[in-house]
Amino acid sequence: MSMLEHDLVVIGGGVSGVTAAAYAQRAGRKVVLLEAGDRLGGCCHTWHPVDGFWLELGAHTAYNSYGSLLALNPDAGYGNLIPRAKVGYHFVKDGHTESPFARVGFLEAALRLPIGLGRKKAGLDVETWFTGLLGPGNWRRLLAPAFAAVLSQPAGPYPAEWLFKRKDRVKAAPRKFTHAGGLQGWLTELAGGLDVRLGQRVDGLAVETEGVRLRLAEAELHAREVAIAAPLDVAAGLLGSVLPDLAARLGATVMAEIETYAVVVPAAMVELPPVAGLIGADDAYYSAVSRDYLAHPQWRGFAFHFKPGRLDAEGKRAKIAEVLGCRTADFAYETEKINRLPALTPTSVGLARELRAGLAGTPVRLVGNYLNGLSLGDAAVYAAKGDSE
Ligand SMILES: Cc1cc2nc3c(=O)[nH]c(=O)nc-3n(C[C@H](O)[C@H](O)[C@H](O)COP(=O)(O)OP(=O)(O)OC[C@H]3O[C@@H](n4cnc5c(N)ncnc54)[C@H](O)[C@@H]3O)c2cc1C
Repeated sequence: MSMLEHDLVVIGGGVSGVTAAAYAQRAGRKVVLLEAGDRLGGCCHTWHPVDGFWLELGAHTAYNSYGSLLALNPDAGYGNLIPRAKVGYHFVKDGHTESPFARVGFLEAALRLPIGLGRKKAGLDVETWFTGLLGPGNWRRLLAPAFAAVLSQPAGPYPAEWLFKRKDRVKAAPRKFTHAGGLQGWLTELAGGLDVRLGQRVDGLAVETEGVRLRLAEAELHAREVAIAAPLDVAAGLLGSVLPDLAARLGATVMAEIETYAVVVPAAMVELPPVAGLIGADDAYYSAVSRDYLAHPQWRGFAFHFKPGRLDAEGKRAKIAEVLGCRTADFAYETEKINRLPALTPTSVGLARELRAGLAGTPVRLVGNYLNGLSLGDAAVYAAKGDSE
């Protein structure tokens, strides 16, 4: 019998990997988490440009419906979580903010609602279901840009059954919250006690008679079991040798790119009133997410999530200054990053089921934001489930 160097290896240190590793460790498994990059978090990426101020470059809001994550929270009283101040999302029109309500076509909605509400979501995309619910005018003016802001990509093709799910709430936790270290800080806290190894990119894996062999740049590892928690395209590549047909279908899913440009500006320089964020209808950005939910006396920060290929860096800076009502020279700190998310469709739902069935009985498990929905809570629910589910 060959030596099994590791019991369970988790590939990827985003919310899916951290959750999968933490639950397995709780269940008594000996876990190692390998992360390719130099930090934990993945899409939870909290930027710290200046002492005492941070800004989210990716995920920004957690809810008390994220039960699988909250069950891992080190403080059962949730004193480490910070409720978000009540600021709202707005559209921008002619240089002014506009409430989403101003875009609701009430008559159209009233005529549609009684028929639309009863329709099943299974198999339908978001555009079809919500157009049926509230009408094409409401879809175009309000829902398409608002959902694109939520999903950071065109929302129409997304599976309707994965957009809003009925979920239990953990009443003791704040309804909407962040953490003193931002969401990356929270995830790092949840990963406390795990054996995390940064800078360890897994390039390939092969199932053997006993366990799995993993190929890294400068090493080979052997594990009894592997949980792949890397982004969809990487996962599809790693699965190629395990389930070639399903891996090819998974790999055909497009990855949506989001060109994120973030700025920190002295609060006194910004004209825009406090907002949770802006929805960029008919504009070059999906959303501009602010830090106003956790106000700071000196700084305001905004992460603009731009549509791919629309503007170069100077164009983005000019757009941001125009929207904020300041000058580009007022930007005290700025940074850029490419975020990537799977562009899910109704076929993703069935594919997730087939992947789960195909991997049953193998030493390989998949966890990720493409198996149950994009939110942190959705990724965590699946990662928290045992291998048998
Ligand atoms: C701009 C933006 C805003 C969002 N806002 C919210 C929000 O407010 N609330 C919410 O709930 N959700 C939000 N989301 C969605 C959510 O953040 C993501 O779906 C979720 O964090 C994905 O987690 P994950 O662990 O599945 O994948 P990822 O976060 O992508 O993590 C995958 C990890 O695997 C690592 N990796 C890649 N390849 C390898 C390899 N070969 N070997 C080892 N490691 C590898 C990567 O470096 C990465 O750390 C947002 C997403 C984006 C992009």
